[in-house]
Amino acid sequence: MKRIAVLTSGGDAPGMNAAVRSVVRSAISKGLEVCAIYEGYEGMLEGGDRIKLLNWRDVGGILQQGGTVIGSARCDKFRERDGRLRAALNLIRSGIEGLIIIGGDGSLTGAHILQKEWTGLVKELRESGRISDEIADEQEIPAIVGLVGSIDNDMHGTEMTIGADTALHRIVAAVDAITSTAASHQRSFVVEVMGRHCGYLALMGALATGSDWAIIPECPPEGDDWEGKMCAALKEGREAGRRDSIVIIAEGARDRSGNPITSQHIKDILETRLGEDTRITVLGHVQRGGSPSAYDRNLSTRLGYDAVKALLTPAAIAEPIVIGVKGNMITRTPLTACLNKTWEVAEAIKSRDYDRAMALRGGSFGESFTIARTLLRVFPSMPKSNQKSLRIGVIHSGGLAPGMNTAVRAAIRLGLDKGFVMYGIRNGFRGFVDGNIEEFDWMSVAGLSSTGGAELGTNRYIPSRGDFYAIAQNIEKYNLDGLVMIGGLAGYQSVIEMNKRRESFPAFKIPIICMPATINNNLPGTDLSVGADTALNSIVEVIGKIKQSAVASQRTFIVEVMGKYCGYLAMMSAMATGAERVYLHEEGVMLKNLVDDVEKLSQDFRRGKRLGLIVRNEKANELYTTDFMHALFEEEGHDLFDVRQAVLGHMQQGGDPSPFDRIFATRLASRCINFVGDTFDSDEVTAVCIGQIEGRIETLEMDRVPRKLDDKHMRPKKQWWMKMRELARIMAQSEPD
Ligand code: ADP
Repeated sequence: MKRIAVLTSGGDAPGMNAAVRSVVRSAISKGLEVCAIYEGYEGMLEGGDRIKLLNWRDVGGILQQGGTVIGSARCDKFRERDGRLRAALNLIRSGIEGLIIIGGDGSLTGAHILQKEWTGLVKELRESGRISDEIADEQEIPAIVGLVGSIDNDMHGTEMTIGADTALHRIVAAVDAITSTAASHQRSFVVEVMGRHCGYLALMGALATGSDWAIIPECPPEGDDWEGKMCAALKEGREAGRRDSIVIIAEGARDRSGNPITSQHIKDILETRLGEDTRITVLGHVQRGGSPSAYDRNLSTRLGYDAVKALLTPAAIAEPIVIGVKGNMITRTPLTACLNKTWEVAEAIKSRDYDRAMALRGGSFGESFTIARTLLRVFPSMPKSNQKSLRIGVIHSGGLAPGMNTAVRAAIRLGLDKGFVMYGIRNGFRGFVDGNIEEFDWMSVAGLSSTGGAELGTNRYIPSRGDFYAIAQNIEKYNLDGLVMIGGLAGYQSVIEMNKRRESFPAFKIPIICMPATINNNLPGTDLSVGADTALNSIVEVIGKIKQSAVASQRTFIVEVMGKYCGYLAMMSAMATGAERVYLHEEGVMLKNLVDDVEKLSQDFRRGKRLGLIVRNEKANELYTTDFMHALFEEEGHDLFDVRQAVLGHMQQGGDPSPFDRIFATRLASRCINFVGDTFDSDEVTAVCIGQIEGRIETLEMDRVPRKLDDKHMRPKKQWWMKMRELARIMAQSEPD
């Protein structure tokens, strides 16, 4: 294969540009030529200058842009064979042998049909004399790979579509803002979000913002008088002290008879039945717009890279392959399987088989729905008669991570809903020693879902010597049956120490579960920790501003980010901002690297470069500090460029948690409470940590944690994201080597 093309089609989605950039650069680095087909299938039909070769630099500076710079369109003519005939002719004339389509299920269906018809189309073009016999004989079926670009997250074959995370950022920011004005006036708001057949945005938006009611197409409200039920719940909420009521509704929401539920209907109901001053906010295209989130940029970059690799496999000729993601693994699935399942959900909704629709959406969707339904309650459910009322403590330990509050709220409410008595232990293990322990009720954690910081307080104190006796006494005093630690390495180490002393202190023989929450993402037993996504987005936002400030002058910025000895934040933020170079402790920094990098930068500035960006992990090298690098680059850059440094510091731990961190924290908290409830009466209760590994939520025995930890550098021995270095290196080049 010599030449391929990329196009974006259907509704645009933030992250499409990052995918185009990645496809172009990955293809060129593999020795392929790559064309952009402008305006989706319309450009394919029109040909001419709508199909253009792109070079490395053509896709510079687009990573952070929303929308799609190569244009997207809906093209009805492509739905007809005649249109596809013209498209095939243009592809043949342009010598295109492989296609990467970035779009929704409609766009990918179009590609599938084109591929199936290809032989017939070529035959017809030959017979009508539009292509010569010779050219017709040379034609092979084009390889096709699809990337799902859609903010709705409505397609099977990927857990996340390009743009969905960014759309959630917009929704969460809007609902957080609305909540404050709603509370000031004691108003009700109906917020309508996108999603005709898919309630993903509405459900996750509600879960992340702690909204009071949510209506999604997959699971319409139950009962003849669902309106009455909703009103009763919202009224109860008011009586319990809520200052606002927020209802999130997906645009495709329906009742159980299949009739649309409109925002206006909800507003009318709330006004007539409850006398509530109610406003409607339809978020509309705001959800599509703006700069992509860090997650969408990196996801798209990874998908684009794998798309080029997949295009070169025979499988892509038999049938289009969809490149998707599961956890943080990139997956490949035949398109038919993805389409069939996607359509099955739409069909199930249409035929009002809602149990099936929910089941088809997959485990985590249903789990999130159940959790959301519990969290939005005004009071906990009545405890089941067979459920023992356990007493569970919740504690933080380690550095501050955005999402800690969200996790505490979820843990406390989900525990109370099971009939447990929930205690907050303030000030980490120091507070545990001092007996700084307090019972929490349902409303005491209201409003915590969206706030940064840690209301319970956190620090890095690790208990030693006499502390264990004091902790054991407090466990006995409060009769704790289980402990949930939400925090970082200090918390893990504290629990490991407690676990070692179980024989000396029988009080420690209770289920203890650690939930990963640290911006550093340096914990064993999980691919991701709560807080890292927020920190990454904060870094990416600031670097965006720094880049803007620097374009006017020829300048290189050295940005130092946190992470202790773990390079996750440095690596991921470098990828998401298009940095030229990233320095990680994992790779080491040698003088030779620095000299090479200065030379490379100088060369680029000589060729017209205006801005250089280097990201370094705070502990990349003890002696080659940020100051040292600054001085070296400044001196060696001579008159070509000047150098500035930015040490980002504690802003990385601040801010309200990102949608992902809120959702992840909530799901993990739910599993933590279940773990304690399920294991407290087993013969051998254990201490474990919970995490997400390759997309699955799993637990790991605490005594196995030390083996997985590089204890000198306090990071996991194996780090999944290290395998992305090759990709990051390719993307960061100013021109291929
Ligand atoms: P999305 O890709 O976001 O689902 P659409 O469903 O509007 O958006 O599809 C985008 C374009 O893909 C359409 O305008 C059309 O050109 C093409 N397309 C969609 N469905 C088909 C189909 N069944 N056959 C051929 N082309 C199609």
